[in-house]
Amino acid sequence: MSEGPEAYIDDSKPLRDDDTFCFSCTPERRCFTNCCYDLNLVLMPYDIMRLKNRLGMTSGDFLKKYTGVHVGQETGVPVILLKMEEPYLKCPFLEEARGCNVYEDRPGACRTYPLARMARRSQSMEGVEEFYYIVREPDCQGFRDGREWTVREWKANEKIAKFNEMNDVFGELLQAKQVANIPHLSADQIDIFYMGCYDIDGFRDFFLNGPNLERYMESDDVISKISEDEEELLKYGIRWVKKKLFEGGCLGCGASCSTDG
Ligand code: SF4
Ligand code: SF4
Repeated sequence: MSEGPEAYIDDSKPLRDDDTFCFSCTPERRCFTNCCYDLNLVLMPYDIMRLKNRLGMTSGDFLKKYTGVHVGQETGVPVILLKMEEPYLKCPFLEEARGCNVYEDRPGACRTYPLARMARRSQSMEGVEEFYYIVREPDCQGFRDGREWTVREWKANEKIAKFNEMNDVFGELLQAKQVANIPHLSADQIDIFYMGCYDIDGFRDFFLNGPNLERYMESDDVISKISEDEEELLKYGIRWVKKKLFEGGCLGCGASCSTDG
């Protein structure tokens, strides 16, 4: 597999919303779709939700068919990678003559390119401070004669806001792991992480439909909100993992009711 986009990040200048860069990606470019091969494409929880719905699959079937899992060296948590198709390591969603088959629901990283988002958070600060770096993939011709964008315009054009919002919920979880100072997860903890963050339909079955006492500790309002709205369910699942693995409890009671997860 080729190097990930991080290898081509130009970190000499952080870009904020009003900063500009020049870029145009159109089907006329000679490199059109070249960037959809041999990718190290990490799927975030919201990417998986969008893609499995686009394809009309359950998250369990989607994860089995299209992804592989490994434990991240730096984060120590399970990371989901999109499997490239043999023999040319093509993204499974690329249709050569047409382009991206899942365009409206493509992953956040595909939308954000040629930018990479950096989100900084600290315990002393509410919310997230974000900025962007340019990613200069060597074979990408989009930088030649590109039109000028502000970062704000690019984010709006590519409809990135919802992806960022959901990724920030996931970021809360990673931060809680750091604060709890737990470098490695046990096999059982990895299963909990995987279900709550990535296998949203599995989490729905477990939490809302199965014999699960934690559900009865939640208010009716919360249960109806997460039953009716899958994005809310995903946020809940991620926060449930955070509480269970790194803050010693369950979301419903808000206290340290168990530490065995
Ligand atoms: S211009 Fe860059 S992003 Fe667009 S198709 Fe070519 S390589 Fe991909
Ligand atoms: S999801 Fe679409 S844009 Fe992203 S790599 Fe695959 S084909 Fe390309």
